[in-house]
Amino acid sequence: MLPNQKIKDQKIYNSSDIIHTTSSILSTPIEYLKGVGPLRGDLLRKELEIFSFGDLLDHFPHRHIDKTRVNKISTINYQTDFVQVAGVLQQFDILGEKRAKRLVAHLKDETGSLELTWFQGISWVQKNLVPGQKYLVFGRTGFFSGRPQMVHPEIEPFIAAKADGKEYLEPVYPATEKLKARGLNGRQLGKLTYQLFSQLKPDDIPENLPEAVIAANQLINRYEAYCNIHFPVSQVAYERSLKRLKFEELFIAQVRLNLIRLERHKSSRGVVFEKVGELFNDFYNHHLPFSLTGAQKRVIREIRTDTGRGHQMNRLLQGDVGSGKTIVALLSMLLAADNGYQSCLMAPTEILAQQHYNGLKALLKEIPVEIALLTGTVKGKERKRILAGLLDDSIHFVVGTHAVIEDVVQFKNLGLVIVDEQHRFGVAQRAKLWEKSLIPPHVLVMTATPIPRTLAMTAYGDLDYSVMDELPPGRQPITTVHRNEGARASVMDFVKTEIQKGRQAYFIYPLIEESEKLSYEDLMQGYEQVKSFFPEPRYRISMVHGRQPPEQKETNMQRFVTGDTHIMVSTTVIEVGVNVPNATVMVIESSEKFGLSQLHQLRGRVGRGSEKSFCILLTGAKVSKEGKERINTMCATNDGFAIAEKDLELRGPGDISGTRQSGALNFKVASIVNDKELLELAKTTAEQICEEDPELDMAKNLLLKNYLRSQKGKNAWSRIS
Ligand code: ADP
Ligand code: MG
Repeated sequence: MLPNQKIKDQKIYNSSDIIHTTSSILSTPIEYLKGVGPLRGDLLRKELEIFSFGDLLDHFPHRHIDKTRVNKISTINYQTDFVQVAGVLQQFDILGEKRAKRLVAHLKDETGSLELTWFQGISWVQKNLVPGQKYLVFGRTGFFSGRPQMVHPEIEPFIAAKADGKEYLEPVYPATEKLKARGLNGRQLGKLTYQLFSQLKPDDIPENLPEAVIAANQLINRYEAYCNIHFPVSQVAYERSLKRLKFEELFIAQVRLNLIRLERHKSSRGVVFEKVGELFNDFYNHHLPFSLTGAQKRVIREIRTDTGRGHQMNRLLQGDVGSGKTIVALLSMLLAADNGYQSCLMAPTEILAQQHYNGLKALLKEIPVEIALLTGTVKGKERKRILAGLLDDSIHFVVGTHAVIEDVVQFKNLGLVIVDEQHRFGVAQRAKLWEKSLIPPHVLVMTATPIPRTLAMTAYGDLDYSVMDELPPGRQPITTVHRNEGARASVMDFVKTEIQKGRQAYFIYPLIEESEKLSYEDLMQGYEQVKSFFPEPRYRISMVHGRQPPEQKETNMQRFVTGDTHIMVSTTVIEVGVNVPNATVMVIESSEKFGLSQLHQLRGRVGRGSEKSFCILLTGAKVSKEGKERINTMCATNDGFAIAEKDLELRGPGDISGTRQSGALNFKVASIVNDKELLELAKTTAEQICEEDPELDMAKNLLLKNYLRSQKGKNAWSRIS
């Protein structure tokens, strides 16, 4: 193999002897590295999943110690987070008993004293650290009765830095307690890595990015990046390595997603919706209750194109709450019917399925198609009739909860599957549907609330993607305010005036995941409280919660929908989809307990008609910093896309529901929150390359192709399909 520096040489791309770049030395089992051996090898495998030399190379330091940057102890204040100081270790003291037992020693420099504390490994610390010696200490500082303190510091004998003025950055690696106990702490791992590097040549870490990509994005080469992520010659070199490796990670992921998508376009057969026929046209020209927004029209065009090409459509439709996704679903279903295919629409809850069914049935009154509702409560004869109808194609549209539709239903010729409120619908479930017919049906996934663009790009990058970023005309923005407990009476008065104007109101209580019982009691208490402000018979109240049997839920819901009741008291079961345009106030109790996208989704239940709507976020007097930030965000904006961004920023990608299982977000160095620009860059670059050369057969893409091949099966990406 050629040394990495020579890769710039154009000749390499024409050379036919480059076939596989998996380096043999990197696949050497870790115990063969000098200084490891079987025992430590075992630990490294178990604790850090380091099996080979290559895995150790991929175990990046989480920080570097710069020995030239030692702080004075007196500079530590309440704002200090992590700090590095040096000083003389004083005598040990053992304080406390049993679980509170701890080892304490002070570290003194000429400016002050820092208390060091250990709760674990006490005897090891006592044996290995010597009072009177000078140590270099790193860790997070805290304050304990006004004095600075550091718990479980990283500590080592102090060796004066070389006085050549150069930066000297020593890597520290993530390690576990078990590893530390066996003498493999965060810095000793660095010694192993150093040992490894002494055995590596540049061509052991071959380039995997096309030359043009490297040049265009001013990236350093791969070998250099690996050297400097571990042992940077300077802070600048470190940052350049980080950029290169982040880009590589994001780019490789994007290439994979693009290849999956293109492969599907190319190879998957799809039912063909050739024509726009009578059903669609009749509905569109004579029964559409409003004119479509520009965004709705655009998405329908996209779906038309997708479904007419003979390949399976797999499209994610992102639209804010209330942007009118339902009508897009309906028009797509009519398109399927025009071409002789059945459709199913799946909702996450019974209430929603019921509501979709009612809504669609009303819209389709004059259109000659059969529509059925299939949920867990549909039993006996009716169920038999529907199942038979789907099998002989006398029923064209079925609406239901996805659990039901997934499991038992067989279709004569299913052509389109629409999944509403994707957040609760996993990748695996999606795949299950495709097995329902020989030629997989087209799939349209509609999100309940927007997800940030970066997240969509990574978690759903294998899907085609539509955005509806326009609300139907005439909507008035919802006014959102924050009130605390003390203002409850005036909040109730406000709700009263709205009801007197003929409007309706929601009171929402949080569902506490850990304790269903608690949530239930909260709700009951809340119900009583609301009732005392709004006494019967003057006011009528519906209540809906998870413990009710579906029929009762449905009846209570229906009373509110028809305007028979003034107030709906509910847990978050109404979270998604419910449509009562006459409701203009929503009061959310303990709103600090809700996540941002959930609050936004809830709020989307009001502001659906032409009247001005309000959302009142109630909290106790004390709200955490993050809770406060969520509430401020809600009061500041109605834009679901902006809220989704904020949500991602506050919670991190792992917690955004529905994406966790995708495994698509486990980046090692890159972050979809902090590296947005690089991600965009990686995405467009990957798209260009994959469009131009979907098989990666061109000489310039050979390195990339070989790399992808060598990585097969190594990570979640390669399994996504
Ligand atoms: P979501 O995208 O949240 O599912 P819906 O499909 O429930 O939104 O639509 C929200 C409301 O807006 C419904 O009452 C619907 O009838 C109405 N609507 C949808 N599209 C339009 C439009 N183009 N013009 C006016 N009203 C519309
Ligand atoms: Mg909806």
